[in-house]
Amino acid sequence: MVFPVCQLKVGRDKSIRRRHPWIFSGAIAMEPDAQAGDLVDVQSSDGEFLGRGAYNPNSQIRVRLFTFDDEDIDTDFFIRRISDARDMRRSLLPPETDCYRMVFSGGDRIPGLILDSYGRHLVLQFQTAAVDAQREAIIQAVEELIQPESLYERSDSGFRLDEGLEKRSGLISGEDPPVPLEITEAGIKYLIDIPDGQKSGFYLDQRASRMLTRSIAKDKSVLNVFSYSGGFAVSALAGGALRARNVDSSRPALDLAMKIYEANGFPVDEEDFVKHDAFDFLRNDPDSYDLVILDPPAFSKSMAGLHRAQKGYKEIILRGLGRLNPGGMLMAFSCSGHLNAAMFQKLAFAAAFDARKEVQILQRFGHGFDHPINIYHPEGEYLCGLLLQLHR
Ligand code: SAH
Repeated sequence: MVFPVCQLKVGRDKSIRRRHPWIFSGAIAMEPDAQAGDLVDVQSSDGEFLGRGAYNPNSQIRVRLFTFDDEDIDTDFFIRRISDARDMRRSLLPPETDCYRMVFSGGDRIPGLILDSYGRHLVLQFQTAAVDAQREAIIQAVEELIQPESLYERSDSGFRLDEGLEKRSGLISGEDPPVPLEITEAGIKYLIDIPDGQKSGFYLDQRASRMLTRSIAKDKSVLNVFSYSGGFAVSALAGGALRARNVDSSRPALDLAMKIYEANGFPVDEEDFVKHDAFDFLRNDPDSYDLVILDPPAFSKSMAGLHRAQKGYKEIILRGLGRLNPGGMLMAFSCSGHLNAAMFQKLAFAAAFDARKEVQILQRFGHGFDHPINIYHPEGEYLCGLLLQLHR
């Protein structure tokens, strides 16, 4: 097949030759005659084929590359990419775990496609025009590979608006998934709500940190701020924590957390499910804890909001340190893509300094292996975190 050509300006082929998968508008000599989502061939200024991807005139990222080879982008292509992604996860998942991110966008070389697997139930997100235009081929590939009980779409994140796409969600095929649906991670039961929960129902990206929490929680009192459905708290209780209190601004999230405590046989005390603004809670809570977890939503979704976001992270770390018993630990995360791990550590430094505390970094956190980062595309990384300890 012959595709419209997107020709680069002289000297603007360096990044694609280094396998970076985005072509920005400023690098293009002549825009191709194509619509959003159409496949195009990227060529150097002297006509050499460099890669094949999808065009989007609505985005500064004009082309997102699917491949650097001259190959068809069709159902077979997606079967190959998705089965590679699935096989890698299956060989690495911890025992007694039936939930994981099967495809993580550019990290798995399918720009904008997210596929989450919850037992026999799958959730798809098409976040870019590139994958939206390949919707039918992708659905066919997923169904051929996996034959799920249900395939649900949750293409309702803000990313789509930047791409000029409307939000879309609903059942694609099979029976509606049960609500709540029980899943298992490292032997712990969780309940998720695929149609209406946050993300696709669960923060799969925090698996490694939840498992670490379990391993350090014995005999500790735990405060889990920005708890959502209590994933960290339940992990801590499974690891022998004395108690674990959750704080979130969402009542449905806390109600789900209570059901998850019950499903795992942990006692439910209403005082441990606090609907409150986290900033306000951290300022005024009279109690202190051995382990405080802070896993806020992205305070910044753009470069423009970065300064305010940094103040927010510093503030909660400062307040979180203030809630610790002597020798206590603080686990803090950022999922703002524009804030990298080095910047986050500086914020933790500033907070520790203002709190006048002696603080050690015990561990750094990032994505789990089911959220891989394409080494040529570090922009795909968004999650970082620190485990801090106060000296006694
Ligand atoms: N730690 C969770 C994920 C947290 S997502 C897990 O592992 O599952 C961020 C959570 O912060 C959401 O549940 C959201 O409802 C909550 N939230 C957002 N703003 C808040 C605020 N100002 N105060 C308290 N909670 C807030």
